[in-house]
Amino acid sequence: MASPLPGRPARLSICFLLLAGLLRAAASDSPPNIVLIYADDLGYGDVGCYGATKVRTPHIDRLAREGRRFTDAHSASAACTPSRYALLTGEYPFRVDNWGPIFGRAGLIIDPAKTTLASLLRGAGYATACIGKWHLGFGTKTPDWNGELKPGPLELGFDWYYGLPTVSSHAPYVLVENHRVLGLDPADPLVFGGLPETPKYPEKILNAQAMSGARAAHALYQDDQLGTLFTQKATTWIRQQRGRPFFLYFATPQIHHPFTPHPRFQGTSDCGRYGDFIHELDWMVGEILATLDELRLADHTLVIFTSDNGGMLNEGGQDAWRAGHRANGELLGYKFGAWEGGHRVPFLVRWPGRVPAGSTSSQLIANLDLLATFAALTGRKLDPAAGPDSFNQLATLTGSPAAPIREHLVLQPIARKNVALRSGPWVYISAQGDGGFSGIRGGPGSVAFSERTNSDITPDGKIRPEAPPDQLYNLATDFRQERNVVREHPEVAARMIALLRSHRENTRTAPLP
Ligand code: CA
Repeated sequence: MASPLPGRPARLSICFLLLAGLLRAAASDSPPNIVLIYADDLGYGDVGCYGATKVRTPHIDRLAREGRRFTDAHSASAACTPSRYALLTGEYPFRVDNWGPIFGRAGLIIDPAKTTLASLLRGAGYATACIGKWHLGFGTKTPDWNGELKPGPLELGFDWYYGLPTVSSHAPYVLVENHRVLGLDPADPLVFGGLPETPKYPEKILNAQAMSGARAAHALYQDDQLGTLFTQKATTWIRQQRGRPFFLYFATPQIHHPFTPHPRFQGTSDCGRYGDFIHELDWMVGEILATLDELRLADHTLVIFTSDNGGMLNEGGQDAWRAGHRANGELLGYKFGAWEGGHRVPFLVRWPGRVPAGSTSSQLIANLDLLATFAALTGRKLDPAAGPDSFNQLATLTGSPAAPIREHLVLQPIARKNVALRSGPWVYISAQGDGGFSGIRGGPGSVAFSERTNSDITPDGKIRPEAPPDQLYNLATDFRQERNVVREHPEVAARMIALLRSHRENTRTAPLP
């Protein structure tokens, strides 16, 4: 049928196309949405794109295929809580004397006056949510589990918090939304001590941190449902933003022990519950990516996937190792320790059109760097006191800077005496061993269990009597940290000790006494 006004529909179509093009151009110039997926205890070798063969991680691997895979990315700490402190504040956790995980009696360890990823992005007009594991404490001194859990994530810049307040192996085994424990009955409060109501998994810690009571609140906390629940909350929240720029900090309890995958993932991997839990994590990533695709947001969303620390050699990790899985790939050591396996982690970045697809970067980058990077991304100027240990790595994400942006990185194991410093290819460790777990789970015992070699350690997992008091490795020639060369390069060690000591300013505890 002929148009009563020939030419007008065509002109309208052209105008519409031009307008749509302009809107798209404006959208691509505006800062992207940010989805930061922070896995728990996921090691350098735990996913397919970093070499795993006993698990299948197609969705995580998709991020590598469509984005950039980093091979020298680190958490500043080898443990959950200090790692998250570094991530959110851009500050070394040793500056506030945090060296290990905190539990149910600990208050919030981040000063609400500090700039965080969330407060930065909220200031830039983003909607902000934290879904999943918090593990940074609540309250000024100790949490009021039966009252208002404040200050907490909301006082640090998140509009909404929903998740697991501490860590999946420890009490209180409840869900928290914003300032409250969900489902709490005032007639049946949470109390310290006693046996918790969730005895389902033997790996759960029943110690001085135990809490009991609150049966109704515990009933809402079902370990094997958490992955599904948090994913549903995350995808729903993304849908609700409807054009507003958003920052989602999605901190998964996967794959921290106890290994509690939903039944639909059980038995799906080739390395037991450990691998099944990785499969659940991969599904969760896939659901987030599918939601971005469905909403046509993928091209305008920066997705970062990384882990809070390296893989752990607990019983499930040992079973996975015997099945041929190498949680930390070729790296020496495990979670909590100063060797590379403790803190070098998968780090994937996807931002279509800005981050080259299918690329790999060997630049040194740390979780600390996201604060300065996100400030640059959103055009925000950081307060001079904010993120003192954060470097703007935007050029490392999107390009290939000729010189490394980060020259040094302090790496914290659990034990302060074993603090490490990375500088160029060198890593210096200030004591013997890795300063992490004892027995099989860490240090010399883990080297023996894993059938690895290290010049300081006997085949049966003991420090040799003649071993030097400290360690130096050249990672360019000794990626597996097999040969301590501290006696061959005293000048390098001296320079690195001086560098560690230079971090004394503005710190409650320095990395070296
Ligand atoms: Ca962890």
